[in-house]
Amino acid sequence: MTKPYISIVIPVYNEADNLETLYQRLTSAMDEYGKTYEIILVNDGSRDNSAAKLNELHQRRPKQIRVIHFNGNFGQHMAIIAGFEKVRGDITITLDADLQNPPEEIPKLVQAIEAGHDYVGGVRKNRQDTWFRRNASKLNNLIRERITGIVMTDQGSMLRAYKKNVIDLMVASKEASTFIPALAYSYSSNPTEIEVEHSARAAGESKYSVYKLLRLNFDLMTGFSLIPLQVFTVFGMLVSLLSTLFVVYMFIRRLIVGPEAEGLFTLFAILYFLVGILLMGLGIVGEYIGRIYKEVRKRPRFVVREVLEQLEDQ
Ligand code: UDP
Ligand code: MG
Repeated sequence: MTKPYISIVIPVYNEADNLETLYQRLTSAMDEYGKTYEIILVNDGSRDNSAAKLNELHQRRPKQIRVIHFNGNFGQHMAIIAGFEKVRGDITITLDADLQNPPEEIPKLVQAIEAGHDYVGGVRKNRQDTWFRRNASKLNNLIRERITGIVMTDQGSMLRAYKKNVIDLMVASKEASTFIPALAYSYSSNPTEIEVEHSARAAGESKYSVYKLLRLNFDLMTGFSLIPLQVFTVFGMLVSLLSTLFVVYMFIRRLIVGPEAEGLFTLFAILYFLVGILLMGLGIVGEYIGRIYKEVRKRPRFVVREVLEQLEDQ
């Protein structure tokens, strides 16, 4: 019976300056909590000193700290999936390496799982991010809810807990790109949310540019819903209907009033508007084709270079 009760999965990308503090705070919070646990750190192709630092952490507690080194940068969500493939605990926790998610909050999440929920999402209290990030999130939440039907107060928080059966299902869905908080929702039968503290990044800078965030959200919308495509079908039908009415009107007008040549630029304005919508529609179709392309290519979602672990039963 060497299996730990709790598995903690942490993606790491260029976080060398945070790892020591993370280790100290995480292990002291968990040691104090007193339940058995393991920590799985996934190095997502860091180019700073993180790899060496992670190896050192593994040396300190070889039976408790497992390290997975990726061959390159495959993204936060792939790093977490790689960790999920390895978890042994009944309860899995995810959190960020930059100490924005206080490790001291983990017991709260565990208690919610023990109370009978199979998925617990952390909602960041007084979120410590820029004004722009906070407001972009609000707008994004609204759109996501409409499109994917996934109601979640805080999709950006990675401080979350999952029961083993939800983890197994997430590992079994082999999509080329995914969004963990939403994926977990689609498999959980009794999810809940609790408030958790949030801090400013301890050291280093955010790995998400505006563009990367935008991409992540396209992946989320197209990965979890067909509504963006369906909206275009409906829009196309509406435009066709209106144009038909317009043609009939113009025909009758011509018989009664005669030909018209005015309103050229109004026509252009309408045309440009429609061309714009059309291009956007093409882009959306492209997003889905891109996803299909990634799937049929069947390349590995991530490549593991090395795994450091010392499982007791080996
Ligand atoms: N991360 C990762 N791969 C990436 C980008 C980020 O593993 O390509 C990790 C990062 O090291 C951190 C977590 O994902 O542990 C969240 O990243 P970050 O703090 O930059 O995101 P933010 O808090 O700004 O949303
Ligand atoms: Mg962060």
